[in-house]
Amino acid sequence: MNQTPVAGSTYDVLVIGSGIAGLSSAVAAAAAGAKVVVLERSAPEDFGGQTRWTEAYFRMKSETEVSDDFEELLVANAGHHIDPNVVAAAGQAYEQWPGYVKAHGMTDPELVSTLSGEAGPTVQWLKTFGVKFAALPTYFVTAAAPRLMPVGGGLALIESLQQHARKAGVELRFHTTANQLSRRDADGFLHVGVVTEAGEGVTLKARSVVIASGGFEGNAEMMTHYIGSTAKFIRPVARGGYYNKGEGIRLALGLGAAAAGDFSSFHAEPLDPRSAQPEALVMNFPYGILVNRKGRRFVDEAPGPVDVNYDHISRAIKDEPDGIAWVVFDQRIHDVPNWKRSIRTDQPAIQGETIEELAVLCGMPADNLQATVEQFNAACGPGEFSALQVDGLATQGIEPRKSNWARPIAQGPFMAYPIIAGICFTYGGIKTNSRAQVVDCDGRTIPGLYAAGEATGLYHQVYTGATSVLRGAVFGRIAGEGAAALTKEVA
Ligand SMILES: Cc1cc2nc3c(=O)[nH]c(=O)nc-3n(C[C@H](O)[C@H](O)[C@H](O)COP(=O)(O)OP(=O)(O)OC[C@H]3O[C@@H](n4cnc5c(N)ncnc54)[C@H](O)[C@@H]3O)c2cc1C
Repeated sequence: MNQTPVAGSTYDVLVIGSGIAGLSSAVAAAAAGAKVVVLERSAPEDFGGQTRWTEAYFRMKSETEVSDDFEELLVANAGHHIDPNVVAAAGQAYEQWPGYVKAHGMTDPELVSTLSGEAGPTVQWLKTFGVKFAALPTYFVTAAAPRLMPVGGGLALIESLQQHARKAGVELRFHTTANQLSRRDADGFLHVGVVTEAGEGVTLKARSVVIASGGFEGNAEMMTHYIGSTAKFIRPVARGGYYNKGEGIRLALGLGAAAAGDFSSFHAEPLDPRSAQPEALVMNFPYGILVNRKGRRFVDEAPGPVDVNYDHISRAIKDEPDGIAWVVFDQRIHDVPNWKRSIRTDQPAIQGETIEELAVLCGMPADNLQATVEQFNAACGPGEFSALQVDGLATQGIEPRKSNWARPIAQGPFMAYPIIAGICFTYGGIKTNSRAQVVDCDGRTIPGLYAAGEATGLYHQVYTGATSVLRGAVFGRIAGEGAAALTKEVA
């Protein structure tokens, strides 16, 4: 297939990005009879962006129902000190919302309820492409919420959708990077400037455009601009992240789109920096202590189930000297059934016969680590250790406290893994409504412009786990259907 787009080509729907959001849009638009093209900057063998690398956990207790805490948690992390006037206005029917509320960057309740309500139907829709779902074991030894996942992970999702898109006549253009966008012209077309594999600039036209080009985790300049100087310590958890450089977000903001989600934060995972593996996780810190380069504790390692806490604990690691920490633990880790499920690095634990030896091997001051462990051990009280439940076995009288699974680290040989914060995806993006239309700074929609997935802003503070692939599928599908329908209206 010719991979170079032809200048001046016109489409009903042009989709930027071939991850879950983009392919869901493309397939939905094609099913509605639209002529569709998908632009993808990567080579064909790397298509699918971040979605390619994920196991794609869905926060669902069955193929039709989201978790019990789904909406509550998303709303609990809706933003920071939201103006009660905004909250009150958002309680009315959407049509009544003032423009400044429609354009507000909070976790929009309209998006939360659409995501929750459309999750089940979207899973059923994905199943029509041959994707199977199951509740398989996860890397969380303790978890507050259930996870459903496509068998074969994100790769199975994008391969099935891509296959279906091709059958439906969708054009897929690889090595093609979108870097310009205009509003609709007098003839009803949006213009998209792309750079081809040969480095040439070509303009394509479409009646609707869906921005599904991910976040900005692969853009060092935007990461530093929005997240700050500690961004230099962070790296994508898998190769897909390097392709998401934020052009889609910038293009929409350049057209006057409102911004949403927390641009200064991101979803983090604890990674072993020594490993070249994708998602080289180290998640056993609830059963040990976390110390920084100086050998000092800095965070409660176990406020509750690990699936609720690994995100903000990873971000806390980023803020320590050199953005690194070590989990230190002893032989009693073997009391935790299946604890190795929480370790995805291919690198071995660092091991020392004594705490001093371990400290030297990790490159931290031995006397500091010795003092930290002694102080921690002395703060561990009596009580029953229960590995797989939040056991309330907390330290007494030290800061920071460890709230659960606190037992003395005393049975050598002692072990440690280094941990840095990996970035899963950025939170800040384009403001959209429940129909996946891009909303401008005055609360109007931008005609013909849609966005879905990571490119859109939803999250603040702590990520409500296992909702990102799902929202890509839900809003990608909605965007594709809406874009195709709009095309018919305009044509
Ligand atoms: C290892 C890993 C594990 C994860 N685990 C989970 C999980 O279990 N559950 C969950 O819900 N989420 C998880 N996530 C997050 C989730 O996978 C992503 O947020 C989601 O898949 C993003 O989908 P998307 O379609 O928005 O973006 P992507 O899948 O990243 O697709 C964006 C595409 O756009 C392309 N692109 C970017 N810019 C341009 C441009 N200018 N022109 C053309 N193409 C462009 C990119 O190359 C990419 O192919 C995980 C992520 C990773 C990396």
